[in-house]
Amino acid sequence: MRQLLENCQVLTCEAGDEPGIINDGAIVVNDNKIEAVGRREELAPLRAQLQPHQIRDMGGRWVMPGLMDMHVHLGLALPGNGHLLAQVEDDMDLTMRAYRNALNAFEAGVTFLRTVGDPRFVDLHIKRAINNGTLKGPRLFCAGHMVITTGGHGHGRGAQETDGPEGFRQAVREQLRAGADLIKLAITGGIAGEHEAITDSQATVAEMEAAAQAAHNAGKRITAHAGSATAITQGVLAGLDCVEHGYFLDGWTVDLMAKNGTYLVPTLSVSRAPEYMRERGCPQWMIDKALKAGEGHMQSYQLALSANLPIAMGTDMLPAEDYDNTLAVYREMEWMVEGGMSTHQVLLSATAQAAALCQIQDKLGSVTPGKLADLIAMPENPLENMRNLRKLDFVMKDGEIYRNFN
Ligand SMILES: [Zn+2]
Repeated sequence: MRQLLENCQVLTCEAGDEPGIINDGAIVVNDNKIEAVGRREELAPLRAQLQPHQIRDMGGRWVMPGLMDMHVHLGLALPGNGHLLAQVEDDMDLTMRAYRNALNAFEAGVTFLRTVGDPRFVDLHIKRAINNGTLKGPRLFCAGHMVITTGGHGHGRGAQETDGPEGFRQAVREQLRAGADLIKLAITGGIAGEHEAITDSQATVAEMEAAAQAAHNAGKRITAHAGSATAITQGVLAGLDCVEHGYFLDGWTVDLMAKNGTYLVPTLSVSRAPEYMRERGCPQWMIDKALKAGEGHMQSYQLALSANLPIAMGTDMLPAEDYDNTLAVYREMEWMVEGGMSTHQVLLSATAQAAALCQIQDKLGSVTPGKLADLIAMPENPLENMRNLRKLDFVMKDGEIYRNFN
């Protein structure tokens, strides 16, 4: 079926230096794809072929591609109360909780989630149920289990512990066998581990190389939770395509990443959310550790910006969770602006840039004819003020309206 969205401003989010704005625009959606986009008068001949019920007045809204969050754990349970709960959860409880988290994100306009480490392949099971039509929900792009060293970052929360190049190779292949779309390692300590420093190196170069080779042989990209410049340098040389967090980068490492085209998913929120952590029962040592990392984390992000690294948006919180009087995904995008990115760049980091990171830029990430019709809308222009995203009130995926303003 064809439908026309009209009386809207379109932010095409096609990769580039200029925000693609179509004033008094219209979009023709045919089944699950975008058929045409342009100014309203340009699409008049197509409009003439449609019945009134196929035409939707968008009330002057700003329409853009659905948001793509590059760092999500659907089964996330922070150490604290949530963690205790998660330890007694069986597979079915976990599945329902994780699915609810995916659905909440979808409703908030996140039509695509890249999961970077979940227990018991819950992400892959939910993805399958959504893709075969059993459940409604966002698109998922999944890592399966995070692969870590014995006792490494994320142990006890469903990550797969192993050691040595052979162990890493096998663990990567196990994720691929389960259907993983990408591979995620943890190569340094992090905020949530009590007995580790963020700067501790965990995986060896040989382990990272073996993992990267196994991922690349299968045509998949590999990313890593990583804190220190030393470990990130080793990881990039060993073949990482992307770095998560990058708490403590330096100029040399950032230059190496730029030369290699390594992506950064900064997840700025995680080191500047004391209230959020307190409300979820995180222990004081963890809150202190997060805040202590905050300044270096922001400086690293700014170094990455000045080196023009490809940066993709990720929350490392549940996208639709309450955070600082809004939802985590909107707040993360606001932090990215506050840290020095233009609103245009931030919108791209959550659309075109994210699609490129997942190597699906031919299908998603911009309002372009031929791409899948995953669209969101809001009454005011997010380019003018990122806070306008908070008023988002329309979500479409595959040409089907999931949330509507009237
Ligand atoms: Zn994470």
